[in-house]
Amino acid sequence: MQIRCYHCGMNFTLRKEEALFVLEALEESGSTHYDARCTRCRHANRISLEQLRRIAPSPQPEDQSEEEG
Ligand SMILES: [Zn+2]
Repeated sequence: MQIRCYHCGMNFTLRKEEALFVLEALEESGSTHYDARCTRCRHANRISLEQLRRIAPSPQPEDQSEEEG
């Protein structure tokens, strides 16, 4: 997911693996947002749970083969 830093305007990407990890942590702690650090200025940008769920949807019984690396 592309995130635009509201502090400096830099576009950076929140990776799916990171979103999955963050989602679990937020749901455990009862938080409603995640502070995504800008890769340029390190400013924290608020990402809502709803946005995170869009990046990291629930696992579905779908067979996909993608190459990574
Ligand atoms: Zn920034």
